Amino acid sequence: MSFLTENQNLLVRNERLDGLYAKPNGEKEVNFALKNARYLFNKLRLINYPCLLNESLNKVQFKKPPVYLVDKWQLAIQGVWAEIIVTPAIDRNRIDAFIEELKACQLPKNYFNEETLNRLAVQIIEALEKNDRARAAIMLRHLATSSSEFSEAYLLRIANALETDNWDAVADDFIKHNFIGRNDYILIVGPFRRNKEGQGDIKLTAIFGRIDSIPLPIEDLEVAAREAFGQLLQPLAPTFAIESIAACGNIGEQEAFLPPDCWCLSKSDRGPALVNMTAHQERLKHWTQKRIRRIFEPETANLILQLLDDKSMQFQEYWLHEAGHAAGMGLKLKIEHDLFPTFTQSGWEEYKTDIAGFYLAAKVLTPEQVGRLVAATFCIRFGIDAHRLGGPEKDHDVFSCVLLLDRLLLSGQFQLLENNQLRLLDVSYEGLYKATIPHRLEAEALIQQELAAVDNPSKIMEFYSWQQPHPFIKMLLDRLIERCR
Ligand SMILES: [Zn+2]
Repeated sequence: MSFLTENQNLLVRNERLDGLYAKPNGEKEVNFALKNARYLFNKLRLINYPCLLNESLNKVQFKKPPVYLVDKWQLAIQGVWAEIIVTPAIDRNRIDAFIEELKACQLPKNYFNEETLNRLAVQIIEALEKNDRARAAIMLRHLATSSSEFSEAYLLRIANALETDNWDAVADDFIKHNFIGRNDYILIVGPFRRNKEGQGDIKLTAIFGRIDSIPLPIEDLEVAAREAFGQLLQPLAPTFAIESIAACGNIGEQEAFLPPDCWCLSKSDRGPALVNMTAHQERLKHWTQKRIRRIFEPETANLILQLLDDKSMQFQEYWLHEAGHAAGMGLKLKIEHDLFPTFTQSGWEEYKTDIAGFYLAAKVLTPEQVGRLVAATFCIRFGIDAHRLGGPEKDHDVFSCVLLLDRLLLSGQFQLLENNQLRLLDVSYEGLYKATIPHRLEAEALIQQELAAVDNPSKIMEFYSWQQPHPFIKMLLDRLIERCR
């Protein structure tokens, strides 16, 4: 919206206004315009906005507002003043809309304005969903002056990035967590890569939500990881649990984990990882329940599914998984040396990561808590990952499930029933703790071997690639899952 219509500009409008005097009914229209000029002037005074009225010219002058309002309403500027010559075309609806926007940018800097924040942020996401970058940029500038939740400079940098498609200035905001507002709302906009069937697909992506401050069983994971693994060759990315309010682009309901390096912003791997708990719980509710009930007999399934209500352990599980990737020589070094040529290798990495998490947890938590963590892992691995298309030969997550299952049977704590369901012998979290003894022993050995091979990373091929699970286990997992299809 602006005060000008079609090809009008102020000059043209002045001429037209002059022209009105010549018309027989000109007097009436001029009165109408004068009344509205007074209306605008009074409205400005009501919000204590510095202003002047020139009745003979139907002209209202007022303190120059922020540039984005000047642009949007195409205001004429004279020094520190902006002016509007009120023509008959400018009606009260338009004046009211303008005053609303002007009011918004007068707000004190500590003005939270939660309702406006939610409304505008959702509209920004909606505009981006339609790839209407120009509108999103306008709304961002509007948000910058309507709520003090996010720093004004941060929002303006996003708006600029949208217009220029240059994201350099926003990269630092991601690393420094500037996307987190004063009251824990978050807003991130940027290109985001999703790995789909081995292909990277980059899309302009945005998420608005809120940090979910969940207390965790392991308070200082970095310290715990350093102690458990001996050393930590790559730092742990800070990880935040978030509730998503609106999202678009490559953030869907399918993936709950948003790794920092998937944001295509410079040095984004130094930024935080996000766990979209809204998507995660949606996924668990939708898939996990019935699948776990089919794979495990009822008592065992009930024990595992209690974890669906434990957000804290669910989030801990995610974060521990990241610590598991850092264990040994660390995922980054392995990627640098191209050590995942096939799904088998990356499947091994996923498995090693899960069991390193169990191993770490057992160092600092009670057996009961470790059992709960294992149940949370089962919810994801057997409830979601094991069912991915492609199977163990084409999907590393399915492959890691095969390894997980193989060692569970090795523990002697699980029994395969005649109806092809798994039964935990000691149906308790301590029972699950015992069932993962082989995993934890294996984790300890693998981490040591990896650390010893740091100077020659390709050496890990020797102690990983030949360790294929027995073909029977692949068949068994297939059979367990088939029941769910
Ligand atoms: Zn992983």
